Amino acid sequence: MRALHFTEHGDIDKLSYGEVATPSVARGAVRVATKAAALNHLDLFVLGGLAGVELAMPHTPGSDGAGIVEEAGEGVTRFKAGDPVMLNPLLSCGRCEFCRNGEHSLCVKVKILGEHTAGTYAEYFVAPEENLWPVPAGRSFEEAAAFSLVYQTAWRMLIGRGRLRPGEDVLIHGIGGGVSIAALQISKLTGARVFVTSSSDEKLRKARELGADFGYNYKESEITAEVLHETGKRGVDIVIDSVGKVTWAESLKAARRGGRVITCGATTGPNPPAAIHMIFWKQIEVIGSTMSSQSEYGQVVQLFESRQLTPVIDRVFPLSEGRAALEYLKAGKQFGKVVLRVGEEG
Ligand SMILES: [Zn+2]
Repeated sequence: MRALHFTEHGDIDKLSYGEVATPSVARGAVRVATKAAALNHLDLFVLGGLAGVELAMPHTPGSDGAGIVEEAGEGVTRFKAGDPVMLNPLLSCGRCEFCRNGEHSLCVKVKILGEHTAGTYAEYFVAPEENLWPVPAGRSFEEAAAFSLVYQTAWRMLIGRGRLRPGEDVLIHGIGGGVSIAALQISKLTGARVFVTSSSDEKLRKARELGADFGYNYKESEITAEVLHETGKRGVDIVIDSVGKVTWAESLKAARRGGRVITCGATTGPNPPAAIHMIFWKQIEVIGSTMSSQSEYGQVVQLFESRQLTPVIDRVFPLSEGRAALEYLKAGKQFGKVVLRVGEEG
């Protein structure tokens, strides 16, 4: 089959498009003919090499995908050839203390398809049956691929871990990426007031169209001062920070007393000054979050099915132009998801 793959870690130039072995179907697994896959920043980290992750080479990245079941392995009961499916890429053991408690993203053997195992940037991918969900009626493969990873991440951050309640104020840094847009949409569903930041006026304008109440360009504005002004010096209840080093100090300053600062990533670096004095004095909860449990995934897919949540797709590339797609993602100009179309001209 044709796939995007690499045999050594490095930059995007290490990625090739061409023939690799078609993955075989193990017991309890399903082979899917990929129709669409979506890009995540994670792909660039996987390509660059992650500490402690030893990949079988050649490796195909890609953690979001949707397509049509081509072959259901022995023991598979929920799917048959021809079914349209979308992938939840979180692989968990199902047996450890955390899995038994329904906390799959805390699994001691947690893996992400495409990060630790062969991914979706290929004509076929294989996943365990429990990682596949029917594509809701009326939803496209592109939408299904664009939805999975970022919406489950934002849902757990805000609802499961962040305990967002109606009418609260939420500050989201770096609007434009998949998780931040998902967080904006989920916050608005609960009736929250949403403040967003970006270095791009164009992205702030688009965020306003999606319902953001306030947008600040951090190149031009004192974000903390603006947020404190709008909230009557109180600060926001929740800060969503996936930016890291550049925004961390602002996040702690903009949070209200007893507020929650939630992190799911650190695209500008993982080691900002901790500012412990602000954490204890304001009694801020610093909350880590990643991916979601299977029940949280089911909850957020229901909102996708009922069209209360729809991913924003910035641009679609054919699979054969995957390198250009990753260059585009890396440049950071997109508002929404970058998607690969697979099959036909892909
Ligand atoms: Zn487990």
